[in-house]
Amino acid sequence: MQKLTLSRLDVASKRVLMRVDFNVPQDDHGAITDDTRVRASLPAITEVIRRGGRLVLCSHLGRPKGKKDPKYTLAPVAKRLAELLDRPVVFVSDCVGPEAEKVTGALKDGEVALLENVRFYAEEEKNDAGFAQKLAKMGEVFVNDAFGTAHRAHASTVGVTKFLKSAAGPLMEKELRALGGLLENPKRPFVAILGGAKVSDKIKVIENLSKICDRILIGGGMAYTFLKAKGLPIGRSIFEADTLEVAKRLTSPKILLPEDHVVAAEFKADSPASVVTNIPDDRMGLDIGPATVSTYLGILKGAATVVWNGPVGVFEMPAFAKGTRAIADCLANSKATTVIGGGDTAAAVTDFGLEARMTHVSTGGGASLEFLEGQELPGVAALSPA
Ligand code: AMP
Repeated sequence: MQKLTLSRLDVASKRVLMRVDFNVPQDDHGAITDDTRVRASLPAITEVIRRGGRLVLCSHLGRPKGKKDPKYTLAPVAKRLAELLDRPVVFVSDCVGPEAEKVTGALKDGEVALLENVRFYAEEEKNDAGFAQKLAKMGEVFVNDAFGTAHRAHASTVGVTKFLKSAAGPLMEKELRALGGLLENPKRPFVAILGGAKVSDKIKVIENLSKICDRILIGGGMAYTFLKAKGLPIGRSIFEADTLEVAKRLTSPKILLPEDHVVAAEFKADSPASVVTNIPDDRMGLDIGPATVSTYLGILKGAATVVWNGPVGVFEMPAFAKGTRAIADCLANSKATTVIGGGDTAAAVTDFGLEARMTHVSTGGGASLEFLEGQELPGVAALSPA
C-alpha cells in the first residue's frame, strides 16, 4: 500500500471520523434485509475501539436526493450495529452542525457514534468544500473504509481529506490488495470472465484487461453485441446498437465468445428453453449453452488467476442459471486465485452459497469495475501517503 493505513494511524483518545458503507438493503418497513455491509465494517470499528479511539461513523443510505427523508435514516443501522458490537452506539440525528459537534465532542475513549445519512445534504455528492469542512469537524483524523463508494468524489470520501490526515481502513486495504494484485503481477494464465447485460458498462474493462489477461471469456447479454458485430444471427437477444462499432474494434484472439446458447421465445422464467448454435429470428439468448460451458471450464481449470465480473446468463431465472452456476462451481473448486467483482456477480455467488470458497468477493460493484478499468479511484487517491 502506498497510502497510510489505519494500522499506522495514531487513534488513541482521538475522534476518528470513519467513512463506512452502511448502504444496506431494507424492506418497505425500513427493516434491514441484509447486514453484510455492517458486518464487513466490524474489523475497522473494533480496531479503533480496541486502540482507544473515539469513533464517529458516517455513511450514505439510498438516494434521498439531498433532502432529509425519514425513509433513508441510518437510525436502524445504529441499532443493528449496537447489537453486533454488543455495546452502545450513539445515533446523531444530523451529520454536521452544533448538535452533532456537541455529541461527538463528548465521546470518551472507545465510544461509538453514527452520524445521520450524509446524503441528506446535496453538498455531499457535489463534494462541496464548505460542507466537507463541517463534516471534518466531527473528527481529528479520517479513515475511509468504504470501498463501495471510493469511485465517487464526494465530500465524505474526498472533500474531508483536505482537512484531516486520512488513512485506508482494513476493508479498503483488503479490496485494494486483491484487485491490485490482478493488475500488477497476476499469476498466469490469467483469465477474465465478463458477462452482464450491457457491453457499454464494460468496454473500458475489456480494453484494459485485454492488455493484461491471457484470455477473456465473454457471456451474458453483452455477448450478443459482439456476435452481431461478427455478422452472426442473434434473433431477439438484447444488444446495443450504439456499441456495435466499438465491439467490432475490440476483436482480439484473446477474446472468446459463446459457441452455443440457451434460448427462449420470451424473457420469462417459464418460457420453454432450448439449446441452439445459431439463434433463430424469433428466439433470444438467455444463457451460454453446454458446449460453451465446457470450453470455458476447460480454460478456467488451467488458470492460475481468475477475475469474474457479470453473470453469463439470466441467473435470476433457474432455467437460465446453469452457465453462471457451472462457472461459480468451477471457481469454488479451483486452486487458482479467484476474485469476484461486486454487484450481481457477488450476489450470484452468495445465492449459490459459494462466497467463502472464493479468494475474494468484492463489496463494491461500480468501484471494482472502475478499478479494473485501470482508473485510480478518487477516494483512494485522496488518502494521505504511507
Ligand atoms: P450487469 O448489471 O450489467 O452486470 O448485468 C447483470 C444482469 O444481466 C443480470 O440481472 C442478468 O439477468 C442479466 N443478463 C445476463 N445475461 C443476459 C441475457 N442473455 N439477456 C438479458 N439479460 C441478461
